[in-house]
Amino acid sequence: MTRRKQVYEGKAKVMFEGPEPGTLVQYFKDDATAFNAQKRGTITGKGVINNRISEFLMTRIAEIGIPTHFVRRLNMREQLVRQVEIIPIEVVVRNVVAGSLATRMGIAEGTSLPRSIVEYYYKSDKLGDPMVSEEHITCFGWASTHDLDEIMQMALRINDFLSGLFLGIGIKLIDFKLEFGRLFDEHDQMRLVLADEISPDNCRLWDVKTNEKLDKDRFRRDLGKVEEAYQEVARRLGILPEIAPGDAQSTPTVQ
Ligand code: C5P
Repeated sequence: MTRRKQVYEGKAKVMFEGPEPGTLVQYFKDDATAFNAQKRGTITGKGVINNRISEFLMTRIAEIGIPTHFVRRLNMREQLVRQVEIIPIEVVVRNVVAGSLATRMGIAEGTSLPRSIVEYYYKSDKLGDPMVSEEHITCFGWASTHDLDEIMQMALRINDFLSGLFLGIGIKLIDFKLEFGRLFDEHDQMRLVLADEISPDNCRLWDVKTNEKLDKDRFRRDLGKVEEAYQEVARRLGILPEIAPGDAQSTPTVQ
């Protein structure tokens, strides 16, 4: 029995060394943070649900030909992923005005956009994830123009695909955040792949009929029924997990 080595701990996930070289185990916590970790809390069972939702969405996305870091789900809170070099950019795609765009531009939340907007933010907790342009990204060497074109194309395809998928279950995909990484093969050939997770933690999901928020804004804005919202998304996707008694509180397993 060896204790798994922790590689990284983020706000909502922990990464452990995987069973084979080039793999990692991604563990989903119930911890929730907002406003650059100024607000902290716990959403009971969130890790279990996000593990399932992200598995489902990453698998569907891979089926349309977009490579991802996801390999397979291991258990209630863990999934096996390929180790990638994370590009330090958060890619946000927006279909409807909400959140920081509403605040920044003084436009009412819920205003439809004539076309989708892609924005980039530099991943830095210290700096509060500042918005950056393609010029900053290429100038500071975080990604090349060629990589960024590929990332933008993948992000827009994912947006089209997920918008349709969610619409089919009565949910509007308002906006979401993606992260990409570099995956190197045995010949040191690099491929860009979708990484991190896709879940109600990093998407805005509104009920089509009522505009009820089914995402992390319920936590950010103290709207209540946070756990229920995450469960509702999983239920509509047809993947509501059976949560074992006590599992919601479980800590990372030791192998
Ligand atoms: O806050 P803002 O309106 O810029 O967020 C846009 C989208 O990106 C939202 O769906 C939000 O959940 C997601 N996001 C995220 N992680 C961040 C910032 C935003 O997942 N650090």
